[in-house]
Amino acid sequence: MYTATANLVLPTSIIGSLPRPAWYTQNLGARDFRDAMVDRSYREQYLDAVAVYLRDQETAGLDIVTDGDCRFDADVAGHNWFSYAPLHMDGFAGARPYRVKGGLAGIPQKPGHILHDVLETRVMPDLVGPVGRGRLRYTALWKAAQRQTGKPVKFGTITPELIAMSVRDLHYKDLRKSILAVSDALNAELHELADAGCPVIQMEEPQIHLLAAKGLSDALLNAKFMVEVFNNTVRGLRAKTEVWCHTCWGNPAAQRLFAKTPSYAPALEALNEVDADVITFETCSSGGMDLEAIGKRMRDKKVCIGVVDHHTLQVETPEQVAALIRKALEHIPAERLVLSSDCGMGREGMSRRHAFYKMVSIVQGANLVRRERGLPQARCLAAETRYSMIEGE
Ligand SMILES: [Zn+2]
Repeated sequence: MYTATANLVLPTSIIGSLPRPAWYTQNLGARDFRDAMVDRSYREQYLDAVAVYLRDQETAGLDIVTDGDCRFDADVAGHNWFSYAPLHMDGFAGARPYRVKGGLAGIPQKPGHILHDVLETRVMPDLVGPVGRGRLRYTALWKAAQRQTGKPVKFGTITPELIAMSVRDLHYKDLRKSILAVSDALNAELHELADAGCPVIQMEEPQIHLLAAKGLSDALLNAKFMVEVFNNTVRGLRAKTEVWCHTCWGNPAAQRLFAKTPSYAPALEALNEVDADVITFETCSSGGMDLEAIGKRMRDKKVCIGVVDHHTLQVETPEQVAALIRKALEHIPAERLVLSSDCGMGREGMSRRHAFYKMVSIVQGANLVRRERGLPQARCLAAETRYSMIEGE
């Protein structure tokens, strides 16, 4: 159901992660978040970091905010986005370098490239027993952010297939079974989160578009099965909250995984089948090349487009953002269009200031289009001339 985006035209948000403040030096590791929050140093740094993530988003004027993915450790290429769940769920143990046969999609096999570090640091626990929710603590994590702001806080999670595909399975010895076991455990965790009042739950990176774009489809892994997995993971949630499905073309160390941004076209039919209210697309990095196809295929769900690029340090101008929004509006009605970043901006890629001004551009660009259409504009404190420290401005 629509909650956070209900009654908002051209709402703004970001995908999730933000760059860590330099003083946020604590890491959670495999500790239970509730245990770590007993530690005064961890608690103070964690809550302060969440506070500045929220404050930056509020100062920019975003409508829907996130906790900046504050739970993730300061590690290489944002590795903890993969490892947090298996480090905290039941059924996983140990820590071993894990290597998919033939490497990971789009990642160079030989040293000498920044992305090779992604392979080298893929140290994950093994799957050794029945999977359970364990100590994911999604509800506690969301509450720690939501109680610090009046704006709706979106909570994002990695999808089950990426958890199961990133570990060595010594228990189920069947990839489909292990994916579905993780899916069931996540569903229970997400119901607790929705029941606690979380207004938006975002599933991050179902492997639908990547499989479809690469034309990969075998009996084991194909877009159809990934849609089944997605819908199993979110079953029952849309009766309680707003569900987003995030898709992009990769983000380790803020690097591109493809020489040329792939097209979403082969994936749109499958993506239209996911049980979600909003689907996000990486559209800024491709110059909006798929907007027409997206508009034609997505006739009911809301479409969230990326209007700033997470790979680049060049901050998009409000005029560039507005131009991309206008292009999208040629194919997608304003009532169903949501604005965001292409992906998270905190996966070891950019400084806090770059991310901040990208968020400011999202809001200023949205305001340009809102003004043209007679829609209410968001206050963007960061852009108010009266608070400039330059005298006489
Ligand atoms: Zn992404």
